[in-house]
Amino acid sequence: MADLSEWEKYKANPEDYSKSLVEARSGEVNKASRPWDLINPNTEYVSKEEAAIRLDICKSCPELIQGLLQCKKCGCFMKAKTTIKHAECPLHKW
Ligand code: SF4
Repeated sequence: MADLSEWEKYKANPEDYSKSLVEARSGEVNKASRPWDLINPNTEYVSKEEAAIRLDICKSCPELIQGLLQCKKCGCFMKAKTTIKHAECPLHKW
């Protein structure tokens, strides 16, 4: 699966993809994002491409309120949240 994009890996097997993210992050210090990260000048962001991949995953998720692009699980507006480097999907889809 090395040649597949993150989006293609997710689409091929959403459950395994989510598990691999949980395992990869299990040793990390909790860096969960918060809404006010968006006004913190020290917040790190992902590339536009990475944010687009995350948003595409959200757009295929039944937890997304499509018109608002708001997640029913975390309440966040995903167009903004997907840009924050340490943000995580509450269902570990990205
Ligand atoms: S953050 Fe996760 S649960 Fe929420 S809409 Fe996106 S993929 Fe779905």
